[in-house]
Amino acid sequence: MIQAPRGTFDILPEAAAARKVVEEQAERILGAAGYRRIETPTFEATELFARGVGEATDIVQKEMYTFDDGGGRSLTLRPEVTAPICRAYLEHGMHKLAQPVKLWYLSSCFRAEAPQRGRYRQFWQVGAEAIGSDAPETDAELIVVLADLLDMLGVQHDRLRLASLGTPAARAEYREHLQRYLRANEDRLAPEVRTRIDLNPMRAFDASDRATQAVMHDAPKLLDHLNEADAAHFDQVRGLLSGAGLSYELDPTLVRGMDYYTRTVFEFTSEALGAQSGVGGGGRYDGLIELLDGPPTPACGWAAGVERMLLAARELPAGSDVVDLFVALAKPGRGDTAFGLAREARRAGLQAQLELAGRSLKGQLRHADRIGARYVAIIGDNGTATLKNMESGDERDTELVNVIPEILRGDRLS
Ligand code: AMP
Repeated sequence: MIQAPRGTFDILPEAAAARKVVEEQAERILGAAGYRRIETPTFEATELFARGVGEATDIVQKEMYTFDDGGGRSLTLRPEVTAPICRAYLEHGMHKLAQPVKLWYLSSCFRAEAPQRGRYRQFWQVGAEAIGSDAPETDAELIVVLADLLDMLGVQHDRLRLASLGTPAARAEYREHLQRYLRANEDRLAPEVRTRIDLNPMRAFDASDRATQAVMHDAPKLLDHLNEADAAHFDQVRGLLSGAGLSYELDPTLVRGMDYYTRTVFEFTSEALGAQSGVGGGGRYDGLIELLDGPPTPACGWAAGVERMLLAARELPAGSDVVDLFVALAKPGRGDTAFGLAREARRAGLQAQLELAGRSLKGQLRHADRIGARYVAIIGDNGTATLKNMESGDERDTELVNVIPEILRGDRLS
């Protein structure tokens, strides 16, 4: 039997209500802060991610679903949405709008990672981007808005880790410093860390190997090597967060999976999640738009995983469908009358269903009860029907034309 591809899942009707709550809360909270919704294509030119996310990242090196479109162009299913939004910002001349341009999205992403709880190959992200401002208030606003969203969803025990990566120049200088330190301690590092000293020394902070972790404990930290402007910017972000009553931990080893980050980076984690504890995170990416051939444009944003938020959230409503009317047939035939009545009821705003499985009358009533129908109309002869109130058990004969008005009137009375 054919199954859903590894790392993917079906969203069954039962799961839809909880996901809708996530969408509604995102819409409410982000909308209130002036973020407007955007949707970009599911696939983009591969080069967008190679350049934007960074050639050396795990995402680009190992996790992208890339294909030829048949015309010799290389396309990739989006592994993240920030680079596509920056592409759209440039393509639509959004730099001419009042800055910053504040956007949010709820989109699917694709990464060929090893699947486990909370880690999938197709997953959904809610995200927000503020493009065109370097004010520390932007960073703080974004972080506070994500904290509010997690709060509203009841995401358990979340922890906020915060750091600053500084500007590329400060980072390059620090990088060399770190590389020298790693080389001096090479014999104590795990082999995969050793081979990445040149390509991506920062990832050494991520290593799970004990001996490497011991080396990294004493490694020089970027936070201690920020230039004056970056340090001042970071101090202001911290001040605003504290002023907003948000507690955070400074984590100088915070590593994010994309190369585009500059200055502020942050991540919310939840103990309720286990190994894949990241619920949402992001940061400033002041160089990304320029990297995509745009003008120098500071920007900041975050993304949070819908599935991870749901895993870490309190019980969200399962949601049940209301069936106002089930149209039954006293005897076979009259299918056209039943069909017409159900359609008319829907146009009057009722949720209406009709018998589609050729059940006996007794079977139809049992079915109506099972789906929780509030009323059943049993089509009789000569334009008549029996209307049964399933809650009270009352039933009476009436003209077919009166069925819908009577249900609507009943609703007004109750
Ligand atoms: P990132 O785009 O890597 O910064 O991830 C942002 C958020 O997306 C994470 O905090 C997770 O909640 C979610 N996420 C990232 N990768 C996956 C994945 N493979 N499966 C499910 N959720 C993910």
